[in-house]
Amino acid sequence: MQINEKQLSQVNHQIGRLLAADNFYGRRLKEAGVSHVDTVEEFLNLPFSEKQDLRDAYPLGLMTCREEEIVRIHSSSGTTGLPVIIPYTAKDVDDWGEMFKRCYMFAGITEKDRIQITPGYGLWTAGIGFQNGCEKLGAMAIPMGPGNTEKQLQMMMDLRSTVICATSSYALLLAEEIEKRGIRDRIHLKKGVIGSERWGEKMRKRISSELGIELYDIYGLTEIYGPGIGINCKYDQGMHYWDDYIYLEIIDPETGKNVPDGEWGEIVITTLVKEGAPLIRFRTHDLSRIIPGECPCGSHFPRIDVISGRSDDMVKIKGVNFFPRQIEEILALFPELSSEYQIRISHLDGKDTMRIYVEASGSYDFKSLQKSVADAVKSRIGFTPLVYVVELGFLPRSEKKTKRVIDERFA
Ligand code: ZN
Repeated sequence: MQINEKQLSQVNHQIGRLLAADNFYGRRLKEAGVSHVDTVEEFLNLPFSEKQDLRDAYPLGLMTCREEEIVRIHSSSGTTGLPVIIPYTAKDVDDWGEMFKRCYMFAGITEKDRIQITPGYGLWTAGIGFQNGCEKLGAMAIPMGPGNTEKQLQMMMDLRSTVICATSSYALLLAEEIEKRGIRDRIHLKKGVIGSERWGEKMRKRISSELGIELYDIYGLTEIYGPGIGINCKYDQGMHYWDDYIYLEIIDPETGKNVPDGEWGEIVITTLVKEGAPLIRFRTHDLSRIIPGECPCGSHFPRIDVISGRSDDMVKIKGVNFFPRQIEEILALFPELSSEYQIRISHLDGKDTMRIYVEASGSYDFKSLQKSVADAVKSRIGFTPLVYVVELGFLPRSEKKTKRVIDERFA
């Protein structure tokens, strides 16, 4: 998916503004002697930007316009070190709302829907993004925010919510609570818009069948507006993304070079019209691929596959590198297992040990199942984990994101 003429001219406009603002990227361009790009090759020679650059600009160093023009800031999580602060102009907020409205429309949601929003409000881009798009669409927002499951279910029944917006973890928790209470016939949900974490096919099937709803994956990250820059359509063949607002590349995370369409790699995003904090070639570390060809829906917006993980969540154990999703793919081969699992890595008696806890979907011979799973991991990845098959509902449920890999070696 090569950058086109129009996108190149938009990039040049951004380059001019970044140079004038003299922020970290402006200085990087100056050092490289770049004041504009004329060709695809020149664009591909532009330096990347990284999350660390954004952290180093704390608090307001990313600002690329006059301060009077900034109407809002958002912040991304700072589990390590300083948070990242992204300033937005009124146009940025409006553009984000337009993109989000488009997401709802691609999911077939209309002004007649009642949208229950459970992601958090505040510094995060989550709740407020879902809200902004909902109001632009003209649907009825039910701005719950996270938690308080009792009240969530009450409102869901009384207000007859037709759409639920949630993380996949919270959608699963709600589905299980609805099942437990036997109130499914009082729930009117038709669709779920699910964002912000990688989730497997099994979990998807459980949520969709237990709630009887269609599910849509929404993509986005705080550094680039927030959720709402892409979503799948009803044909569910990847997520369309809005190439009139962003230019998206897939690179090989090792070499930094673009990979051909269809091949997996890391998503790199350039904002085309952002004013408050434009970013050029921002490395997201999310892994996906461009889906070549046309979607059956006929939309001209290009597509990426669902996020399969992050380039930085590789785990090394006993000299073997693997991604958590590889374990998930192995677990998915066993129909006796449910969607929920937890991987714990620890250093015991001088050696690294991996324990996999996974919930069964019914009653089986847990012992032989444990051995089959351990054998499958050994043959595919190269080491033998300790496997514990546990009863459904044994593992913790989360209102936000479920932590699936716990590395206790460096604790
Ligand atoms: Zn489509």
